[in-house]
Amino acid sequence: MTSLRTRDRLIQRLYDQGICDHKVIDCMRSIPRHIFVDEALSHRAYEDTALPIGHSQTLSQPFIVARMTEALLAGGHEPKKVLEVGTGSGYQTVVLAGLVEQVFTVERIRPLQAKARERFRILGIRNVLCRHSDGGMGWPDKGEFDGIVVTAAPETVPDSLLQQLAVGGRMIIPVGGTEQHLYRITRTETGYERDYLEPVRFVPLLGGVIR
Ligand code: SAM
Repeated sequence: MTSLRTRDRLIQRLYDQGICDHKVIDCMRSIPRHIFVDEALSHRAYEDTALPIGHSQTLSQPFIVARMTEALLAGGHEPKKVLEVGTGSGYQTVVLAGLVEQVFTVERIRPLQAKARERFRILGIRNVLCRHSDGGMGWPDKGEFDGIVVTAAPETVPDSLLQQLAVGGRMIIPVGGTEQHLYRITRTETGYERDYLEPVRFVPLLGGVIR
């Protein structure tokens, strides 16, 4: 069992590291992160660290989840339709689901997707649609997105994701190989603007699916 004090310590740490969007903080405070990892790791769920979720994948570090979500919403931006590439444990998905109208999330590893779906059911999350596919291709038949959050790093930003971003929409994406950088890409009437956020370390965005 994890106490509320342990959770509050994580939230305090996010504040200390500069996360200041209260909506993001309140949303993360309300989510039981321990259900997103295997029971054997649940005692570490409120550490500010990435944790293994099987299949050589990880549940992202809470600070990075907060930072990416804050970057998506900064300046009063209110995306309604958000695409997440890389469902993983489903933790970032649930954070997004608490802050936007509809989340579309894509995962290439079927067993991870199945576990995440079960967590959404347990938590009563109703505004998330899941898809098992290569998220580097986006989710073309769902149209354009006001926000795209990518939780695995491609070497370069996939064109299909750029094309599925609505004008005025934002994409938060780690890019690179051994050295990775987090960017916010905004689609304007005439093209794309890229803001550098910080260095990061994500698992790679891989093609194909695992059943
Ligand atoms: N947001 C996740 C969380 O909170 O647990 C973090 C997931 S982990 C850092 C990245 C995920 O992206 C992994 O589950 C991995 O399988 C997935 N992934 C990698 N390449 C992908 C692709 N092309 N399409 C969909 N998912 C992909």
